[in-house]
Amino acid sequence: MNAYPHITCDLVDAYLDGELTPEETKAFALHLGLCASCQAHTAAAAAVSSVLPHAFCGGISEDADLRIRQTLRQELGGADNADDILDLEDLARLLKIPMAEAINLLPELPSFEVGGRLRFRRSRIERWIAEQENKMNNSRERSAAREWTNIIQFPGGAR
Ligand SMILES: [Zn+2]
Repeated sequence: MNAYPHITCDLVDAYLDGELTPEETKAFALHLGLCASCQAHTAAAAAVSSVLPHAFCGGISEDADLRIRQTLRQELGGADNADDILDLEDLARLLKIPMAEAINLLPELPSFEVGGRLRFRRSRIERWIAEQENKMNNSRERSAAREWTNIIQFPGGAR
C-alpha cells in the first residue's frame, strides 16, 4: 500500500529545491502543514533567499560568493570599494596561491602599471575569476574526470 510516498523531514531541502516528484511534493506539502520543524526550516530558507535572491539558485559557488561580497561592499561602503587596487601580494592573497604562482599567472591577468609597478583592479580580477570558473564548468561538462585529475594537486606528491 504505497498510495502516499514515504515523507520524512529529511526531504525538506529537496522539497525547497524542487527535486521531489509531483506526488512527493504534494505529500510533503501536507507534512509541512503539520510539522513545526519543517515550517521553521522553510521560513529560514525563504528569509535567506530574499536577502540574496540569486545566490542560492544553483548552490553557492565561489564566484557567487565573491559577487555577493562585492555587492555587499558596494551597498555598504560605496562603489569605490569594489574598485580597490591590489598589488601582487594582495592578488596572491585574494587567489589564495603562492606569490610565485601569481607571477606565473601574470600574462593572463588583467593588470596595469603605475610608475613601473604592477597593479590590479579588484573588480577586474573578480571578473577574471568568474571567467576561469565558467571555463572550468564548460570543460567539466565535456570531460569531467581528465580535467579534474590534471587540476587537483595531491598533497605531499601522493596520488
Ligand atoms: Zn517535518
